[in-house]
Amino acid sequence: MKLFDVYPLMPVTPVSASGCYVTDNKGEKYLDFYGGHAVISIGHSHPHYTRKITDQLGKIGFYSNAVVNPLQEELAYRLGKFSGCDDYQLFLCNSGAEANENALKLASFANGRKKVVAFYESFHGRTSAAVAATYDPKIITPLNDQHQVEFIPLNDFDRAEDVIDESVCAVIIEGIQGVAGVIEPSDKFLKHIEKLCKKHGALLILDEVQSGCGRTGDYFAHQSSGIKPDVITMAKGIGNGFPIGALMIAPHIKAKHGMLGTTFGGSYLGCAAALAVIEVMEKEKQLLANKTHGKTLIEQLKSLDGVTKITGRGLMIGVHFNEPIAPLRKHLLNEHKIFTGTASDPNIIRLLPPYCITEKEVKKVAKAFSDVSSLIPA
Ligand code: PLP
Repeated sequence: MKLFDVYPLMPVTPVSASGCYVTDNKGEKYLDFYGGHAVISIGHSHPHYTRKITDQLGKIGFYSNAVVNPLQEELAYRLGKFSGCDDYQLFLCNSGAEANENALKLASFANGRKKVVAFYESFHGRTSAAVAATYDPKIITPLNDQHQVEFIPLNDFDRAEDVIDESVCAVIIEGIQGVAGVIEPSDKFLKHIEKLCKKHGALLILDEVQSGCGRTGDYFAHQSSGIKPDVITMAKGIGNGFPIGALMIAPHIKAKHGMLGTTFGGSYLGCAAALAVIEVMEKEKQLLANKTHGKTLIEQLKSLDGVTKITGRGLMIGVHFNEPIAPLRKHLLNEHKIFTGTASDPNIIRLLPPYCITEKEVKKVAKAFSDVSSLIPA
């Protein structure tokens, strides 16, 4: 049998990884400033993470959600405290799309409505309601098209005011738009839509699948605005590669038996992975490090020739050029052995490294970008 060929592949075959480096089958070592698509948070193969999952597997790896699982309770407690959201309730699932699908469903359960407001250039995943709220007609089929979704421009105060009314079930917005190329809603705009949602009984869903779990230096990107969303969705970094997704649900939304469910979500192994991630982030003070390294890197990249703009915060950075970045990325990969990410905008390179980078890696990347920028004709 052949693989179903849906992924354009980089010509690299990783066979091992440690910290912020990945080694391929030829023994070549790459600096990972892509983080396996923003998934690697604490670092590849962190010894505490590996030990915790391995120990757990030796005890019990899986049982269904029909029994008491103390690791889920411990995770809810620790995640609540660490993120500053301990008044929220936790529902565990397996991926970002599943978290958003459940969040939209929960909003509809809560207010009985079905219209969703989402934003230009958004990405929320590929399941039915999540993909319908994603601004990419190429991945939406007639089956998904049945959802009622209205897209408006990010940071457009007047359009938000016009569109968010009593007919709206939920507004779904990324803490920072990732796939779009690291584009931020302003703090004022987040406050504006929070106010409109409250006024009209719509639920505010913050998709922190990519921008959460400390990547920006705050636990969630939206926290700098001071808003309190009704639902926050997470995945990627919380498991550092182990597939786990989560919804944090505000206390006013009441649970009923059977309203949400999953076979694999919240497994012992997933919880062990997520607990190990919190423990390492706390012990190694990675939130603070993400802020510091991000600032230094942004400072060094912003004055380079050919760079028109830098967006983002912490270790979620968009480097904007005024021409397509494909050859630049290729040069970074082949000559400097650095992985970077793309965006839906072909002129943006996305940087999403693991949180264990040090000044050495920041310098290395700044130097590589300065070499790359010299390739751009003036
Ligand atoms: N939401 C955001 C903001 C994302 O960036 C992604 C994936 O890139 C998703 C949702 C979907 O997550 P998953 O691929 O785990 O379903």
